[in-house]
Amino acid sequence: MGDLFPKPPRQRPRILMHVIDAGYADRDKTIVKCKCKKCGYVSDWLVVDTITEAKRGLPCPKCHPS
Ligand SMILES: [Zn+2]
Repeated sequence: MGDLFPKPPRQRPRILMHVIDAGYADRDKTIVKCKCKKCGYVSDWLVVDTITEAKRGLPCPKCHPS
């Protein structure tokens, strides 16, 4: 068997924040607050499409400096 997946040039595990609070703004916007388990960063209120989507996890800006 050959290497189906040669080593990626750089492995970047995504650190995801989890939702700690959720609400609505401007009547039709869903907003969530997220916290990173790894570094403890707590986000501001973020506008998301759906809470379900946010619960999949949002990348932590502290653990992923761009
Ligand atoms: Zn983090």
